[in-house]
Amino acid sequence: MNRWIHGAYLQMLDHIRIVLVNTTHPGNIGAVARAMKNMGLSDLCLVEPKLFPHEAATARASGATDILDRARVVPDLAAALEDCQLVVGTSARGRHIPWPVIDPHELGAIAAPLAGAAASTRVAILFGREDRGLTNDELHACHHHVHIPSVDSFSSLNLGAAVQVICYELRMAALDAQRADQAKPQWGTPWDIELADHAELERLFEHLERTLVGIDFLDPDNPRQLMPRLRRLLLRALPDKVEVNVLRGILTAVDKQVAGAKDKA
Ligand code: SAH
Repeated sequence: MNRWIHGAYLQMLDHIRIVLVNTTHPGNIGAVARAMKNMGLSDLCLVEPKLFPHEAATARASGATDILDRARVVPDLAAALEDCQLVVGTSARGRHIPWPVIDPHELGAIAAPLAGAAASTRVAILFGREDRGLTNDELHACHHHVHIPSVDSFSSLNLGAAVQVICYELRMAALDAQRADQAKPQWGTPWDIELADHAELERLFEHLERTLVGIDFLDPDNPRQLMPRLRRLLLRALPDKVEVNVLRGILTAVDKQVAGAKDKA
């Protein structure tokens, strides 16, 4: 599950299909298109919409009419889902038969890596009718159900708002994966030495501070932001164990020179 096409984190959003089932109000379809485009999704599939295309959809889409133009209208759910490896149904309330229920954040963690795993993978997220949601049969076609944890006494979001929340979490999951990847060394080849751990880095920082005091570069009575800045610099580099040892070796050599100079004086 935890594989991504190398570097293509945001493109994975193209592999996630928003499926609207029997939407009544064309304005909601426009709102969904806008929500999708804001978050970088593009694959919209409409199962038997009541009115589409429609000027109210175009108006509510604002600048997202390209999503509407490319939207696929299909006669039944099977046609919307046939090429999808993961199908997730959204629901404003609990159903009779318990099903694995996740929240939108958990959906991001599950769906994003899967959608990014290969060029051909597709994830579908189903949204129901404005008045009565998805039928039990439709929900039983799903691997997971997603519930946006709204208040029990007023749990149903507007369709466009529900799509917005879900698409936001999917985008955040893609951005998180991208950030995690960028934090790793980018050499196009596996790193040859283990990264230094927290304890080793802390020992390096302590040593650095001692040495900087020893050479009168750091005034312990007026340290300013020197150590936090040096920590940030070194942490940004993600040094490995050997690099940390080299730096410690340099500091030890400096310490010896300083001690020698002090002895002579
Ligand atoms: N009365 C309907 C609500 C439909 S709202 C019902 O009880 O199911 C229209 C669609 O918006 C829902 O089918 C679902 O896809 C989505 N939606 C609305 N509120 C939601 C929530 N709290 N969690 C997940 N999806 C929600």
